[in-house]
Amino acid sequence: MIPDLRNNIYPESVAIIGAARSGLAAASFFMQKGTHVFISDLCEEEKLLSILESRGLGKVDYEAGMHTEKILERQLIVLSPGVRSDLPVLLKAREKGIPVWSEMELGFRASRATFLAITGSTGKSTTVSLLGAALKAAGLESVVAGNIGIPVISEVPSLSVNGFVAAEVSSFQLENIDQFRPLGAAVLNLMKNHLDRYVSEDDYYNAKKEIARNLTKENYLVLNANDALLMEWAEQIKTKTNVIFFGADLPGRDCFYCVNGKIFYRFLGESGEILDVDMMRIKGKHNHENACVAAALAKAAGVNNEAIRRGLCSFEGLEHRLEFVADMGGVKFYNDSKSTTAESVTVAVSAFSGGVHLIAGGRDKGCDFSAVNEAVEKHVSDICLIGEAADRMQKQWEGLAPINRAGTLHEAILKAVKNAVPGDAVVFSPGCSSFDMFANYEERGNIYKQLVRELVKERSVS
Ligand code: ADP
Repeated sequence: MIPDLRNNIYPESVAIIGAARSGLAAASFFMQKGTHVFISDLCEEEKLLSILESRGLGKVDYEAGMHTEKILERQLIVLSPGVRSDLPVLLKAREKGIPVWSEMELGFRASRATFLAITGSTGKSTTVSLLGAALKAAGLESVVAGNIGIPVISEVPSLSVNGFVAAEVSSFQLENIDQFRPLGAAVLNLMKNHLDRYVSEDDYYNAKKEIARNLTKENYLVLNANDALLMEWAEQIKTKTNVIFFGADLPGRDCFYCVNGKIFYRFLGESGEILDVDMMRIKGKHNHENACVAAALAKAAGVNNEAIRRGLCSFEGLEHRLEFVADMGGVKFYNDSKSTTAESVTVAVSAFSGGVHLIAGGRDKGCDFSAVNEAVEKHVSDICLIGEAADRMQKQWEGLAPINRAGTLHEAILKAVKNAVPGDAVVFSPGCSSFDMFANYEERGNIYKQLVRELVKERSVS
């Protein structure tokens, strides 16, 4: 039996691999539809049971600590985004012809709404949120979901055929798609990320390109004009779908780009100005590019320029992404704890014309920190390094700006603010993962914000 969720034909049984947020949402969805749910997770039984019970799923069938062939007894397999799609049991499932769906495929199959999808190495959450703001400003029925932390399957059942899903899609979620076909899709950039999960860079890039697998001339593919690999791909794929570029004014091509502080576009024979970037609340060239992508997808969805402008300018930015924290006598503090790569440090410091007191460091992910050299020379007044990567970062940036070291984040803030004058910015953009000193990037960012606020309070009293 082939499940046809849009026409209310549900499988009799489903195996869900991975009891994380998205898998649990899928389990609840199928339970409500009367499908027999089986959950398989590698965690210990006690932990799995407590997770299931806390989600009202205490009665579902499950296996803990392993993925066995019981999975193959079901009519459909749904994967949580964190689960590897090369598990031996999945290879067998494919041999047996059992469909294996990612979260995105499931959401798409369960909905008649229109999908707009964004993938890439960096900037996905910000861009999908900008797009969501534009759709909302246009008064459209819409949700933001996917890799941003909101399971698609929790959101789509409430949407009508007129609704829109602004979907953040990771390369993992693209590994098991079949019919997934967004009206418009964007690939922001391709960086050497996640190579732990893929055999080679090519594999990783190819996984991202899956977003365009089912696109036709009725669809739109938005690509970064400054990425050589994506430009190469654009040439190959332009016969299959409509390609829109962002990030540069390419004569004769449909594109969305920023010049002299304004975002312009050329699309379907129409051209004009979308907005003045000074009206946006989020800073930096990278965010202007993210806005170009959101504008392109919103235009593809038929949103008018005025609503796009209102939406993009209303967006206040996401927590931990170059987030403004406080102003202490004209020195501004920013929290960019989500920055875990050299590229993110570059875009963060480049968002300021100068006077940046950079705090960086953490667990070394093996990034090429020389990628930040030019931005350090241009924008950074001094650097304070923390964490395990400090030695390697210091070697890379020595001579480009004065470098201090600190044992704690608190000490780093005090050192960073020491030489700051009004108009300067203290920017915490670690460029590394957080696990050497913190539980995760959220905790790292929250502690930074708390320390900054305490300092501001202290200094305002004294
Ligand atoms: P993702 O969801 O892909 O991880 P986020 O929007 O959460 O992306 O941003 C992650 C980090 O990357 C933040 O530090 C942010 O400032 C930076 N960033 C955002 N957009 C871009 C971009 N277009 N290019 C490079 N870095 C970016």
